[in-house]
Amino acid sequence: MTSTLLPVARDVPSLRQAVAAWRREGRSVGLVPTMGALHEGHLSLVRTAKERCDRVVASLFVNPKQFAPHEDFERYPRDEAKDAALLASAGCDLLFAPPPAAMYPEGHSTSVIVANVSTPLEGEMRPHFFGGVATVVTKLLLQALPDIAYFGEKDYQQLLVIKRLAADLDIPVEIAGCNTVREYDGLAMSSRNAYLNPDERRVAGRLNVLMHDAIKAIRSGEMSIAEAEADAARHLIAAGFTCVDYVAVRDAATLAPLTSLDRPARILAAAWLGKTRLIDNLAV
Ligand code: AMP
Repeated sequence: MTSTLLPVARDVPSLRQAVAAWRREGRSVGLVPTMGALHEGHLSLVRTAKERCDRVVASLFVNPKQFAPHEDFERYPRDEAKDAALLASAGCDLLFAPPPAAMYPEGHSTSVIVANVSTPLEGEMRPHFFGGVATVVTKLLLQALPDIAYFGEKDYQQLLVIKRLAADLDIPVEIAGCNTVREYDGLAMSSRNAYLNPDERRVAGRLNVLMHDAIKAIRSGEMSIAEAEADAARHLIAAGFTCVDYVAVRDAATLAPLTSLDRPARILAAAWLGKTRLIDNLAV
């Protein structure tokens, strides 16, 4: 890995100073929020940002507020030097990597809660999660005030939550969703894929294939939506998944349950391989 001279801001005033200097030059600014352990999915967001924005800031912050006490906050992979080199190679102009005390100083008491679209699916399985995400993303949007902020469709429900909060709070930032980048076998790239052992990794690729199968079965009329959801969950267990949190076909805009494909729909799934939880989704 080559070393990098990517500038790093550690606190909000330094971030704002850098963005203000660009603004004075008339530059447009893109923001790519991440939790680090970067892979091609993250880098595709940076490259996409660079297509429309003169300058791109990536943030690297493993947000303690979106992890429950029993989750993987402590063991979440962290390698800032490697991430910085990857970001520089993708065209990023500034890394914002604040310590937790810069994001949540003593006395921090405000949370952002997005109703409705936060409630089902991930909201049921990880009740603390979207409150933490919505709070940190609101802060990042207001700290950087970019023209456009980029998020992956990989975390589809999260993308809907962020679009909602930006609209509801009148944050003057365009929220752009970007395609999911996948491995050779269709597995969605994720920092958490690093937890998988070789056997689990082989099984992991089935998630995407079985979601495609469910879409085909519904579209052809071979199965109802409910039948295809249950069938996919059964096949995931048969393939070697330890537990299935959900396989669900939902309204693509609201995540409300559907009984027929009478509007744009999304299939979303979450399943466990040992101690690793994978999520994925596809347009139906
Ligand atoms: P994370 O570091 O996992 O919080 O992800 C940071 C951003 O990268 C989020 O907007 C994710 O949706 C996005 N992202 C993660 N994995 C992928 C992927 N495989 N393809 C595209 N975007 C992704």
